[in-house]
Amino acid sequence: MTRTPLMAGNWKSNLNHVEATGLVQKLAWTLQDKRWDAEKSEVVVFPPFTDLRTVQTLIDGDKLKLLLGAQDVSTHDGGAHTGEISAKMLAKLGCRYVIVGHSERRTDLGETNADVQAKAVRALVEDIIPVICVGEGLQTREAGEQIPFVLEQVGGSINGLKPDDIARSVIAYEPVWAIGTGKVATPEDAQEVCGAIRRYLAEDFGNEVAEQVRVLYGGSVKSSNVVALMSQPDIDGCLVGGASLQVEEFAAIGRFY
Ligand code: PEP
Repeated sequence: MTRTPLMAGNWKSNLNHVEATGLVQKLAWTLQDKRWDAEKSEVVVFPPFTDLRTVQTLIDGDKLKLLLGAQDVSTHDGGAHTGEISAKMLAKLGCRYVIVGHSERRTDLGETNADVQAKAVRALVEDIIPVICVGEGLQTREAGEQIPFVLEQVGGSINGLKPDDIARSVIAYEPVWAIGTGKVATPEDAQEVCGAIRRYLAEDFGNEVAEQVRVLYGGSVKSSNVVALMSQPDIDGCLVGGASLQVEEFAAIGRFY
């Protein structure tokens, strides 16, 4: 089974819609210069909600091969939920992916595995692929408990999903101690957990499902470490924060192969 590598750039709460235009155009030109082939890696940008319409227009108008994703989605389908953005709205804006359960939201807003599961379900109904984030904190890692911790998060976040929906979902392993800290997990440490995630999926849903799920690594990914990470058998891509705001860096990550 070949899984298309996925390089996901999470802009977090950065760049207004004017700044977004500049970054997306430069990213597309730089990828073109590097002879990036969209068949060999998917490159997805995840701007803030306020930029989605602008980025969608650019991608559609210039026929760019970049894909668009959102950083979060409501657990509700619409209606009286002030401030919430539904999966239907994101689908209409051309979002193909949505990040759910990023550690910053789990920590800052107390999002639970049940919330993450509900968001993933809403996304899948609209044909949007959820990028389900999991990952342990430093204490858990130092206690050597990372695998049971992460597998519990995975189990809770996909609980009740149909095997077909799990197969098209993406799971991003992001050790919290490596996010935005410059401390990257070694390729072997990242593989250990990503491999455990795939084995867990195989045990619960069968090999066919497990072999289709793309498992990403996230945490201080840069052009200098992406190749070593991508050489691991169970790492199918990267979720990139800081480096996704630097055009040359993110283009090199997208064109890692
Ligand atoms: C992230 O935001 O998911 C992330 C991995 O950030 P960074 O690449 O900056 O560590």
